[in-house]
Amino acid sequence: MDFKEKIRVIPDFPQPGIRFKDITTLLMDGKAYQAAINELVEKLKGTEIDLVVGPEARGFVVGAPLAYALGVGFVPVRKSGKLPAETIEVKYSLEYGKDALAMHKDAIVPGQKVLIADDLLATGGTISATLDLVKQLGGEPVGASFFIELSYLNGRQKLEGLDIISLVQYE
Ligand code: 5GP
Repeated sequence: MDFKEKIRVIPDFPQPGIRFKDITTLLMDGKAYQAAINELVEKLKGTEIDLVVGPEARGFVVGAPLAYALGVGFVPVRKSGKLPAETIEVKYSLEYGKDALAMHKDAIVPGQKVLIADDLLATGGTISATLDLVKQLGGEPVGASFFIELSYLNGRQKLEGLDIISLVQYE
């Protein structure tokens, strides 16, 4: 399936000069959404995974169905102050801004093989921060999966050594 044609590009959102890749048009199309998750699952064949970790909010939209399809657990990564139990936190910079991400302290059993999932890889800041949280809890990162990769922002370089899978690339 051509997933790129299901993604809507919004110029100047959320700031002038940014061409935002809007995945809601893909999500609205049940067959396309299912095919996208299935294709990620297909690409992950042979990778041992115990847990999927996804940052809010669009990381849930990719990570949760992926975890369900793989038959493994899902761990949410959230902005500071949102998770109810004891957390660990890490500060990070975004393509446009700064923030802190948090994960429950007991979310990962040391040694668990962790797949990170999000909708889009841009600079890699969000995934680096998520990776940091996973490693702090003793998880073993085995890869990162995305619907979209903005290749020109070189997120891959920032995540050196991590196996990266994306369905659609923008050069
Ligand atoms: P990074 O941290 O890699 O620079 O940015 C990726 C994060 O920002 C992801 O969590 C993603 O949801 C969000 N993001 C940045 N740009 C876009 C975009 O054009 N479209 C979408 N859907 N998300 C974006």
